[in-house]
Amino acid sequence: MPYKAKERQREHAKQYATLHKEELSEYKRNYSLLHKEEISARRKKHRAEHKEEIHQRDKKRDALRREAHARYSRTYYHKHRLELVEYKYARAVALKIEVLTHYGKGECACVVCKYNNLDALSIDHINGNGNVHRQTLGNNQTGNHFYLWLKRNGYPEGYQTLCMNCQWIKRAKYREHGPKFKEPWPEPLPKNG
Ligand SMILES: [Zn+2]
Repeated sequence: MPYKAKERQREHAKQYATLHKEELSEYKRNYSLLHKEEISARRKKHRAEHKEEIHQRDKKRDALRREAHARYSRTYYHKHRLELVEYKYARAVALKIEVLTHYGKGECACVVCKYNNLDALSIDHINGNGNVHRQTLGNNQTGNHFYLWLKRNGYPEGYQTLCMNCQWIKRAKYREHGPKFKEPWPEPLPKNG
């Protein structure tokens, strides 16, 4: 067939396909329903005959997909780096406030002196066995991990919110890291008059 005629034929087929879109898709649907077994057998045979080829093709396709995905993640991360950091930070702060409020008896403040600067507040182990407890938690859980652990475990007892000042004073009074002696803490406030 001369080139021109072939071109014309292709054009015609295209036009026909557009004009009879519905009809053709109906026909295709019917055909696949009627020849279900035949089609699946043909596919199976093809797969068996081209096993290695198909395997290689899939491998290549998967590698490309993985690469594209990694590229996408990298670009996404770089583009939204600051937002992501901010989001993570905001979530961490929200969690900290929630946990410190619970152990601050409904107030995000030190239970002893009521100091409420978030940066100077943390969770105190009432019986002073913080390090031991953290070790049993494993993974050396500190900071945010610890807050998350407390929340996920339904806020177990034995903790309180303290400011760093009160923590140091408590440590000195109880000699948490040395030989123990019991002294009531916090000390009762002096009575006026
Ligand atoms: Zn305090």
